[in-house]
Amino acid sequence: MAEKPSSPNPEPPIATTATPGGGKAPKKTFALIGNPNCGKTTLFNSLTGMRQKVGNYPGVTVERKEGECFSQHGERFRIIDLPGSYSLNAHSPDEAVLRDVLLGRRADTVRPDVALCVVDASNLERNLFLTSQVLELGLPTILVLNMVDVAEERGFKIDVDGLEEALGIPVIACRAHQGVGITELKLAMSRSDIPVSKFEVQYTEAWNRIWDQATEKLAKSGALHGVGSRDRLEAIYLLTDHDPSHYGLSKEELAKVKEVREELDTQKPQWEETLAPARYEAIQKVCDLSVRPPEEYQPSLTDRLDAVLLHWLWGWVTLAVIMVGMFSLIFSYADIPMGWIEGTFAWLADRVRGMMGPGEFRDLLIDGALEGVSGVLVFLPQI
Ligand code: GDP
Ligand code: MG
Repeated sequence: MAEKPSSPNPEPPIATTATPGGGKAPKKTFALIGNPNCGKTTLFNSLTGMRQKVGNYPGVTVERKEGECFSQHGERFRIIDLPGSYSLNAHSPDEAVLRDVLLGRRADTVRPDVALCVVDASNLERNLFLTSQVLELGLPTILVLNMVDVAEERGFKIDVDGLEEALGIPVIACRAHQGVGITELKLAMSRSDIPVSKFEVQYTEAWNRIWDQATEKLAKSGALHGVGSRDRLEAIYLLTDHDPSHYGLSKEELAKVKEVREELDTQKPQWEETLAPARYEAIQKVCDLSVRPPEEYQPSLTDRLDAVLLHWLWGWVTLAVIMVGMFSLIFSYADIPMGWIEGTFAWLADRVRGMMGPGEFRDLLIDGALEGVSGVLVFLPQI
């Protein structure tokens, strides 16, 4: 099919960046990959401590973070914190950074030897979308099941062994913000035999033929620059990228990509829309084997109040009861404290009248000051 040597399940390179004599350059490069906010940077900081370098990928606004850590056996590892993304189907140059690093298409960044896929355990299905794409690239991978505290709080039970079995890679449960699971992760990273996942999205025979034809055309034109073993995936990512001009392809190669895309558009106008559902179906199978959703939903106090107060009928009834209650309070029950206020001021006026002889000053005190203050204070209960 492709010109480059290709095999369905290649043996992963383990120590591509090693130097003779061991000491100087890091032995393996690990890349932290995941959705935004799943805890990549927290893990990166836990793993590397102060040994970090921060910069930018040329031409884009994406931050580039690199650091180092040591394995359990004292080997130096390079760690890169890759930009967060929801998918490898890039629609912007920023998103393309992640995909291109993983496909080995960036001259400025070494292709990682091992992928550390970080997922938010409380949102496993959505997070596995990107992870499943990374798994298919054929890199040795460790899955970091982060935020297990949030998942447990929400009542999800994740069977770590089941997940390991379904994906065929080590799975490490973590609470990165508390440093829980980091030692286990370092142990897993120190293994010399980190496996490649057997995860694969199954397409129908007809679609397989279509992808193979498209891949062959692109491979012949030389547009596939990547790792060789996963030509079909690279072809799909190239075709789904709406602006492949930043790839560094020649004019002829770009024209070929455009041509194959147009052919697909005429042959199967919905070709792009079939990709995500097929992937979600495969992910669902993995989740069915490893995730137990909350057994019994325990509504919180807020949930229970909302059920009544936001109900289409009981909500209005509650509003009516509150309004009637409030007006009754104003017009009936407020009379009682109003009577107390008036009574107090009448009593005070009597006292002043008893103590002072008639005159303008007594009138000022009784009819002016006391009456005025009482006239205002009497409305307090209603207010
Ligand atoms: P990134 O976008 O993937 O780099 O995510 P960050 O490392 O910036 O983490 C996002 C937020 O999640 C931060 O506020 C972290 O403190 C928090 N966080 C990271 N790991 C965990 C975890 O295991 N449990 C909980 N509850 N929060 C976490
Ligand atoms: Mg980050």
